[in-house]
Amino acid sequence: MMLKEPEVLFSEEIIQERVRELASRISADYSETEELVLIGVLRGCYIFLADLSRRLKIPRRIEFIAVSSYEHKTTPGTLRLIMDTRTDITGKHVLIIEDIVDTGQTLHYLLDMLGARKPASLKTCTLLRKPDRLVKDVHIDYLGFDIPDLWVVGYGLDYADRYRALPYIGFVNEES
Ligand code: 5GP
Repeated sequence: MMLKEPEVLFSEEIIQERVRELASRISADYSETEELVLIGVLRGCYIFLADLSRRLKIPRRIEFIAVSSYEHKTTPGTLRLIMDTRTDITGKHVLIIEDIVDTGQTLHYLLDMLGARKPASLKTCTLLRKPDRLVKDVHIDYLGFDIPDLWVVGYGLDYADRYRALPYIGFVNEES
């Protein structure tokens, strides 16, 4: 099957400019912090996290976490942790790095779970958010872009594991 090229939503230049802005805000906000722990939510975050962390001007550590939804179970939207951080975050300054906040369920779950471990602070950063789809009221401290209700791909984001390596963010529709 031939796959159509996604339509461009944010060009590589626009994304890089926004990542630079986010990195300088985060660097300023944590300038007094001994070490910031960035926790990337796999898999979609990996390119955003790579670019963002390289632009930070503060001491930081990288951790990853992965969650999955329980499929074919009685409670839809229930999440489970499939990969945890390697080190304890108790007493640490933590920033969760998400690729996209859609319904907000993933971030809500992670805030609850990581918050229970008593970090010194716990904030959120997401490159994209779909405000029309939110069902959980989650606070975003650092936001790249709000987007309409589209399935977006590229810059780490996939559609059936395709398109992750695109340097831009685009969207695909059912026919593509
Ligand atoms: P939530 O609904 O819990 O906020 O988002 C769950 C996950 O769904 C996101 O972390 C992301 O992996 C995936 N997701 C939601 N919307 C999109 C989208 O438009 N494109 C891609 N590639 N993934 C999405």
